[in-house]
Amino acid sequence: MGAADLFPELPTPSLLLEQAILESNIRRMQRLADMHGVALRPHIKTHKSLDLARRQLKEGAVGIAVAKLGEAEVMAAGGIVDIQIANQVVGVRNIDRLVALASRARVSCAVDSIGNAQALSGAFADGGKVLTVMLDIDTGLHRCGLSDHGDIKALAAAIDKLPGLSLKGLLTHAGHAYAGPPENIAALGREEGETMVRLAGQLRADGFTLETISVGSTPTAPHAVAIAGVTELRPGNYVFHDMIQVGLGVATQEQCALSILATVISTPTTTRAVIDAGSKALSSDMGAHGNRSVIGYGRVVGSKLTVTRLSEEHGVIEHTGEDFRVGQRVRIIPNHACAVVNLFDVMYLCDVAGVIAEWPVHARGRSD
Ligand code: PLP
Repeated sequence: MGAADLFPELPTPSLLLEQAILESNIRRMQRLADMHGVALRPHIKTHKSLDLARRQLKEGAVGIAVAKLGEAEVMAAGGIVDIQIANQVVGVRNIDRLVALASRARVSCAVDSIGNAQALSGAFADGGKVLTVMLDIDTGLHRCGLSDHGDIKALAAAIDKLPGLSLKGLLTHAGHAYAGPPENIAALGREEGETMVRLAGQLRADGFTLETISVGSTPTAPHAVAIAGVTELRPGNYVFHDMIQVGLGVATQEQCALSILATVISTPTTTRAVIDAGSKALSSDMGAHGNRSVIGYGRVVGSKLTVTRLSEEHGVIEHTGEDFRVGQRVRIIPNHACAVVNLFDVMYLCDVAGVIAEWPVHARGRSD
């Protein structure tokens, strides 16, 4: 369950990234996209790291997707030129930031309202620039996005008439697949792709040109990508995987690249061990969108145990008499890797021999 000398050079809690698993996750998703002739645009909200984004681009990704302007600004400052903000950019302050960003990188963003399209148009046309936009489509998550053909057509028509905007395509995220059950994922993924291709066909028949049909979540990726007419895949979590993906049957524990290195600081009873990683290291995330696939707050590597309780700096492992010792180091696979990365300044890239590199989480905390 981990030896006292596990990465003794590192502080705890620390974030470990296993190079071999990471590399194989990156390659597997790139191969999937290549096999279907679809562009891969990894969502970097998962890792927020320039090193990792560069690695994904080197493997064949066409660009990156981000959730927030702050992430986009960090990536652009690091030299990444093709950035899709797979989210709405709203308000004068943010639209001004988007205009500034567009002079440093090729950016696009999602739109799902005529008012927001008008605001974006005003700012870009004033500066004599053109912003590429993607219509945000709701394929079942019921978060942002439109689903009615009439509403989508009206927005496309409004964008067509507005100066400073150029409609590039449709974008969706089938996050509702996280609610499971696992046996529904394939059908939800196919539905994600089919809905997008059907809507794109209707809009093309209405006279609109759509270059990009962008889908993507890690669970639905293999199913949505197989639908003819989908042109872009936008998964994020696949790069690490986590216990949510394991719970959904999307990945095995051996395909989880990220873990938290922690120290056992107390063994007050024969059935309780306490580690120095609590909610500020593991997050208290048990999965979004109605996910029920995880138990506890992270899996203890090399065992079937989970972290059963959390306070901010403590994680409690209730067990049945396993051999935990004060000072022992353990590794925990987090429930939700994307939430955990945002809690650390660095990831330690490692292999069996030890630490290979220290990778900053460049866009950590950039939720603005
Ligand atoms: N696109 C959007 C809009 C998202 O919100 C997300 C994740 O939340 C993704 C893509 C990537 O999905 P996943 O993390 O399941 O790979």
